[in-house]
Amino acid sequence: MQSDRSYHIQTDVCVIGGGHAGCEAALACSRLGFDTVLFTMNVDSIAMMPCNPHIGGSSKGHLVREIDALGGEMGRNIDKTFLQSRMLNRSKGPAVHSLRAQADKAEYSRSMRQVLQQQPHLTIRQAEVTDILLREPENGDGKKQVCGVRIHTGTVYDCRSVIVCTGTYLKARCLVGESITETGPGGMQRSTFLSDWFAANGMPLRRFKTGTPARMDGRSLDYSKMEIQEGDRKVVPFSYSTDPKTLEIDQMPCWLTYTNQETHDIIRANIDRSPIYAGIIEGTGPRYCPSIEDKVVKFAEKTRHHVFIEPEGRYTNEVYVDGMSSSMPDDVQQRMYRTVPGLENCVIVRNAYAIEYDCINANLLKLSLETKAVDGLFCAGQFNGSSGYEEAAAQGLIAGINAVKKMQGKEPLVLKRSEAYIGVLIDDLVTKDNREPYRMMTSRAEYRLLLRQDNADLRLRKYGYDCGLITEEQYQHVLYKQEEIEKETARLKKIRIGAAAGNQKILESLGTAPLKTACSLAELLCRPELHYEDLAPLDPTRPDPALPEEITEQVEIQIKYEGYIERQNRQVEQFEKLERRYLPETLDYLHMAGLRLEAQQKLHQFRPSSIGQASRISGVTPADVAVLLIYLEKTRGENREATDRH
Ligand SMILES: Cc1cc2nc3c(=O)[nH]c(=O)nc-3n(C[C@H](O)[C@H](O)[C@H](O)COP(=O)(O)OP(=O)(O)OC[C@H]3O[C@@H](n4cnc5c(N)ncnc54)[C@H](O)[C@@H]3O)c2cc1C
Repeated sequence: MQSDRSYHIQTDVCVIGGGHAGCEAALACSRLGFDTVLFTMNVDSIAMMPCNPHIGGSSKGHLVREIDALGGEMGRNIDKTFLQSRMLNRSKGPAVHSLRAQADKAEYSRSMRQVLQQQPHLTIRQAEVTDILLREPENGDGKKQVCGVRIHTGTVYDCRSVIVCTGTYLKARCLVGESITETGPGGMQRSTFLSDWFAANGMPLRRFKTGTPARMDGRSLDYSKMEIQEGDRKVVPFSYSTDPKTLEIDQMPCWLTYTNQETHDIIRANIDRSPIYAGIIEGTGPRYCPSIEDKVVKFAEKTRHHVFIEPEGRYTNEVYVDGMSSSMPDDVQQRMYRTVPGLENCVIVRNAYAIEYDCINANLLKLSLETKAVDGLFCAGQFNGSSGYEEAAAQGLIAGINAVKKMQGKEPLVLKRSEAYIGVLIDDLVTKDNREPYRMMTSRAEYRLLLRQDNADLRLRKYGYDCGLITEEQYQHVLYKQEEIEKETARLKKIRIGAAAGNQKILESLGTAPLKTACSLAELLCRPELHYEDLAPLDPTRPDPALPEEITEQVEIQIKYEGYIERQNRQVEQFEKLERRYLPETLDYLHMAGLRLEAQQKLHQFRPSSIGQASRISGVTPADVAVLLIYLEKTRGENREATDRH
């Protein structure tokens, strides 16, 4: 490493990584007026989608909406570059309605790069960051402070905050059977040095892995043997800023086919050549994105598995074979894919492969995504042990916002599990003992009926506005929306209609049962078969001009699910009581009487910020939580100063 005759460049924030996390982090910091440098191993890989060509889907669509509500970019970017859009789970309740859009990968990357390049206060630099520079603690609390980064050329960027978003690149290696290459995803150059830096600074990294399927020449497939999957006619935007009229595009289809016994037999016959089953792969893979090998071995009773053929872009004939990610040797891949109906003559353009890489144990982070060990050092994305573009982008945005808040001397933004999927994501990463890549799912959110994708703006716009990423106009719009929703809900509850013949006739034409007695329009709207617009003939005093759909949609959901929503709100009150019982950072758990040994060790390791977070640490029992509560009662006076700590 060069001595300090290096060339120094001044900036405020260094973001290491141009992936989905890095882009959001860098945009948040620069949009809030801080000079920011985004480092990437290759500028052409900015916002690259190394795996599936889609954004959103179950719970991931919720994350994208929340990112947009807070002022992030992913939602706007996919609305500009999508190929097909579908609202999943429409037949189920609104809590699981999830938007999913097929992306034109090249356009998605190009468009995000353009947004970054046009952003004031933001500089892009193609370079490997090899070292993070620290200065000794100023304020005596023994914590070192970041003060810069060094790149492979020796140049130093002096800064006040560093955000690490290295994704799947650190000491990455890619495996196709016995063929192993020391590269990042898609043959990109990997990065190496920072792994040693983290280990040397008391934050040893661990090894995770993930995998991707082959890409094929779409011209070599026979689509007549597959089921077509079209997009929705009426496309719903991800972003609240997107004009729905711009979404009327010529959508591209996806296709559905299946593996079969022959596919499974080839895999079983060669399972010893799979790097996963041959024990060559060290990293731990994601349980919820299993490779086709895993599916065949773990679900042996299943005779077929779904295979979705998805376009990679409008100006390429490459297609993505979703559902068959693998790290089998090339010869096995050639044979196994050709057993799938429609793929008999498939031409593989890029092999399926597994990638293993270094990432941090997010238990070393605070809920703000700042490291517990070093001041001003934040981490986000796949580097934190998550998996998925959306999970990465959400963390990048929060890390960016909190790096700025730290430099402004303000309290960090910590979203609660009861407020956002982003809150669930970060709390789970930081508090739970995740031993594999963490993928978001609706089942992870206790209060999912409140955390719907349709009300992300009502839940989160205020936080985006408070930190400066949401404009006055956007904020005023959500306040107006909230007010109109409450007014219209109250109006429908007040208006009563009787069982008069005219009304009965209208109800009959709507295919719903006649009224036995008078009821309010709101009670009528609770009938599953009826929707807000259906009631118009029974509602002469309805607002004119008509209320926009974004308001009537909320009115309908809040009336139809009122009972469930109220029950969940009561649960949230209980939950938040414990979240507001803060625990001092310096508490000596190892000598706290009454705590079981395992709890002493776990609490000492995790250093939870509240009783609520402590109760979610595996190995901490309700009895241990009771001990903590008694301790807090006893020492309430002394801890007054602890409340403002996160
Ligand atoms: C093969 C593969 C399969 C995947 N399969 C799935 C899946 O099935 N399901 C799923 O949900 N997700 C999957 N993913 C994960 C998904 O791609 C990632 O979650 C997402 O890309 C993570 O975004 P990120 O911003 O954290 O990191 P990345 O997108 O990996 O970006 C990292 C960035 O950091 C830069 N960088 C790294 N080190 C340095 C350094 N030292 N100096 C400068 N720049 C540096 C790189 O150049 C890059 O710009 C897969 C990824 C890969 C590679």
